[in-house]
Amino acid sequence: MDISVIVPLYNEAESLPHLYEWIARVMKENKFSYEVISVNDGSTDESWDVIRQLQGDKAQGAKGVVRGICFRRNYGKSAALYCGFKAAQGDVVITMDADLQDSPDEIPELYRMITEEGYDLVSGWKQKRYDNALTKNLPSKLFNATARRVTGIQLHDMNCGLKAYRLEVVKNIEVFSEMHRYIPYLAKNAGFTRIGEKVVQHRKREFGTSKFGLNRFVNGYLDLMTLWFLNKFGKQPMHFFGLVGSLMFFIGFIAIIVVGSMKLYALAHHVQAMLVGVNPYFHISILMMILGCMLFLAGFLAEIIIRNSPSRNDYLIREEI
Ligand code: UDP
Ligand code: MG
Repeated sequence: MDISVIVPLYNEAESLPHLYEWIARVMKENKFSYEVISVNDGSTDESWDVIRQLQGDKAQGAKGVVRGICFRRNYGKSAALYCGFKAAQGDVVITMDADLQDSPDEIPELYRMITEEGYDLVSGWKQKRYDNALTKNLPSKLFNATARRVTGIQLHDMNCGLKAYRLEVVKNIEVFSEMHRYIPYLAKNAGFTRIGEKVVQHRKREFGTSKFGLNRFVNGYLDLMTLWFLNKFGKQPMHFFGLVGSLMFFIGFIAIIVVGSMKLYALAHHVQAMLVGVNPYFHISILMMILGCMLFLAGFLAEIIIRNSPSRNDYLIREEI
């Protein structure tokens, strides 16, 4: 099979028939064999009935397969993508929002970039965006600038819903929590470094409403920090906690020796000196030593946890001869 189109959706009943029809038209024109996997993320409207109906429809043409996965409740876009990736079988996997904001007309070119230009992943870039400028476009620019710096991936629109992957990529990365915003970063960390970008058409939302509010940016930043930290120290937490903890302890230790020595010197020479217990440096030193120990211990515990992780020796092997 050439293409798997994965469509995560939450309450998008009105858009679905148009989307399916459009995808079928594009596929037919380009003679692709394909499947559309809709992942219904706990919709409370008739989305699932629509998908069932579409599956029965012969209008899809002989070469298209309609598949669907229906969650019991709403788990989020990442969960939907995870299940879609697991089910996908096409050589090229395309993800696409269900709200008709992404255009299926982009599919042939995305497919070509993966199969002919050898990209592992091609991300869409909504250069001209039809969303609210203040609540979406501007924060999104800031968000992408940060993401570029942290991840080192030069994408303008990391969180674009329209993306294409080689099948191998989606089978070897695990999207979870809300990490769908950083799939290119997950792919890069898994060793799939040929990441490309294509300017894609974006359209206004015709039906329904957006499912993400402004809190996406707060959560997005936190998730970015998590991923960065995990990538850098996830396999060897002691390299971070051990170093910072030891340094703090060492500084505190030296400082407390200085405080003690000064007091002893003053006593020996009968000089007037502050009580050690009221000396602020004494308290700062003690605090540094305690925090240093705690950090060291946190790193040590993390190492013990990792030792027991079932994935501690999971490596992606590209080739063996
Ligand atoms: N979506 C989903 N689960 C959710 C929220 C959203 O599957 O919990 C789907 C939604 O139906 C749409 C896509 O994710 O197909 C993108 O959502 P939306 O269009 O609301 O995002 P925006 O375009 O506003 O960034
Ligand atoms: Mg949308």
